[in-house]
Amino acid sequence: MIIGVLSLQGDVIEHINHIKKTGYIGVEVKTKQDIDAIDALILPGGESTAIGRLLRITELEDYLKQKIINGLPVWGTCAGMILLAKNIDGEDKVHLGIMNIKVKRNAYGTQLDSFIIQRTIENISKNPIDMIFIRAPYIEEFSETVTPLIYVDGNLVAAKENNILVTSFHPELTDNTTFLNYFINEIC
Ligand code: GLN
Repeated sequence: MIIGVLSLQGDVIEHINHIKKTGYIGVEVKTKQDIDAIDALILPGGESTAIGRLLRITELEDYLKQKIINGLPVWGTCAGMILLAKNIDGEDKVHLGIMNIKVKRNAYGTQLDSFIIQRTIENISKNPIDMIFIRAPYIEEFSETVTPLIYVDGNLVAAKENNILVTSFHPELTDNTTFLNYFINEIC
């Protein structure tokens, strides 16, 4: 299986290296041809406004949207979650706008309010894993087609809907591939 990482802006290389740890092939995705050559896609963390703008400039937005609607497995981390959301709190414009969630950007405050916690996650990890939040969003609302996966302090920070997985945090910045394996085994 070949896992692509959308490579317009954000923590692309961290995801590619993380994929290598599982033994799968991780490739950069910048064109429609790249999208056609992958089995699954990761939308990295970064700045959703910048990635969204680049998606439009490169004319990838509609193509990618259609691929995901047609079933391409996709995992959005942090900014990637925002790109996939159908609603963004306080903003009129959305990006891919596919997943039935409403997200709040920078929900924990500024860069200085970034944090790491350790949690054992029911049905996903038996041992505590590091969860890294960097100017992270969380999910404020979701429709009944969405399965909530992880709450931290009452806020929803991971969820799935059909072929789409989203996390507010960054497993790719740790050595622990539990969450990537979850994506591969449960979504792909
Ligand atoms: N705050 C960023 C945004 O709104 C997301 C941060 C991240 O991906 N770590 O797009």
